[in-house]
Amino acid sequence: MNPWIAKALVLAGTVVMIAIRAPHGHRSRIVKVATSYKTPLETGLLVLAWVGFFVPLIWVASPAFSFAEYALGTGLLVAGVMCLVIGLWLFYRSHADLSTNWSITLEVREQHRLITQGVYRRIRHPMYLALALYSIGQALVIPNWVAGPSNLIAFAILCALRVRAEERMMVEEFGDEYAAYSARTKRLIPGVWETMLTGNRERGPGIWNLVEVHSRGVAGAINRK
Ligand code: SAH
Repeated sequence: MNPWIAKALVLAGTVVMIAIRAPHGHRSRIVKVATSYKTPLETGLLVLAWVGFFVPLIWVASPAFSFAEYALGTGLLVAGVMCLVIGLWLFYRSHADLSTNWSITLEVREQHRLITQGVYRRIRHPMYLALALYSIGQALVIPNWVAGPSNLIAFAILCALRVRAEERMMVEEFGDEYAAYSARTKRLIPGVWETMLTGNRERGPGIWNLVEVHSRGVAGAINRK
């Protein structure tokens, strides 16, 4: 199949995504930040996310990644389009529900309210789920081993390193209200993400717990020296 179909989809998806975010980006510059929790790691993650976002556009516009091209299959294309459409819808809904409480990084705004309704009713990170679906959609429709998964890899790293810090920030700001909200909701997909990444009491450690335990061990060893 002609890769131009994929290129048109990537461009259309990017335009829709920018159109959804632009008014929120504009508004977030007006609503003052009350407390910033932005760390150097956060800055690094945002740079990584931008790189992941631009690589597919470089693929659209230039032959830079032509060495990694493969044939585009109809099944992958259809599945990819479904992920892109659902992802963009959820991206739109989560922005609408968060409204002026949205920030691109870890920040609490003046008069920040905890949103627990709309797409936030059952899951705590619908916007990240939207971005995950969008990235999976791109990985499926782009017939290129470099440009296809670039957004997905960058976003997976961002999510793995940000979600816990974001939840710690929300607990610090909203205390029991966020604790109660966490108790009745799931992070991304009921059961799967939570267990895979951070584990839980019943099912034992997830990948992230193992990394944390290991890094505590390394830090301890360094401190003892
Ligand atoms: N993690 C959320 C939001 C991403 S935007 C999601 O995936 O849908 C990140 C910012 O949104 C955070 O810095 C925090 O200030 C804000 N935020 C996250 N969850 C929120 C909630 N339930 N209510 C209000 N603000 C929230």
